[in-house]
Amino acid sequence: MAPEVCLCQGEGPLSCGACCGLYNVEDPGREALSRLLAQRTLEFAAVPRETRAILGFGQRSAALAGETRPFPNFHHCPFLGLVGGGQRAGCLLHPLGQGNNGMDWRGLSHHGGLACHLYFCPSHRLLSPLRRKIVLAAAGDWHLLGLVAPEHAMLAAFFKSVEEFLGRPLPESVLGRPSFLKAVSEFFGLRRKNPWQERGAHARLVNYFFHDQEYENPKVDYAGLGAPVSRHDAVFRALSVTFGRREELQEAERFLDALAERAAREAAGVSSGCQNSFPITGDRIVG
Ligand code: SF4
Repeated sequence: MAPEVCLCQGEGPLSCGACCGLYNVEDPGREALSRLLAQRTLEFAAVPRETRAILGFGQRSAALAGETRPFPNFHHCPFLGLVGGGQRAGCLLHPLGQGNNGMDWRGLSHHGGLACHLYFCPSHRLLSPLRRKIVLAAAGDWHLLGLVAPEHAMLAAFFKSVEEFLGRPLPESVLGRPSFLKAVSEFFGLRRKNPWQERGAHARLVNYFFHDQEYENPKVDYAGLGAPVSRHDAVFRALSVTFGRREELQEAERFLDALAERAAREAAGVSSGCQNSFPITGDRIVG
């Protein structure tokens, strides 16, 4: 049964296809992925709904994604297209898909229909319903949502920092605060581009979050830096960020602290432009 607050398919432009290998293509940037998904969707519309034709489409569609995948053993589902009137990424084989007339063709996918039907990544178990709602509201579109939705450790570390600055758990009312959601969205944007990335942006968009850990993200060498494990370690892991010097690590920690503090201020309903009138005790917001 789908979780009450599901990160996989939402309204309008919100969806995620990370576990289907959405970003495991040569160019996982938003523009290129949009083009790829739109082309597949168009071609699939003309495919007769019968097994041989659909499997043939799957083969042609896989080739469209390019020969080189960042993680060769991680499947990229060739049946990912655009759904919801072309607004979001989704499964072309789903019974609600255009032209499927309620027929579920997901049994023809690589992992089979049962896996597609039953799999929900750990974020659904490990993030509270409110945190999942914040993720949906702050992501804004499918490309960014898919980059953050499965990153439960990164999300939990950030929300913990925000709540520490706030001095209490985030209230439901933050969902109605655009300035708070904007600050959270900027944090999410680090999955697309961050100040510390050394490799190309595309190399780091795809993450592998399954238990077999076949493709692990690099770890910060704290011992080598002579530094304790950072409270932001889960964020650095999700972003594949490492540091050559302790000062770089400390600068990155200050950057993330500032973003979390800003989100906390916005959650408390005080614009960061009015900081002087804001009641703060130590480094914690109490208003
Ligand atoms: S990675 Fe998680 S949120 Fe994304 S589609 Fe898969 S199960 Fe849903």
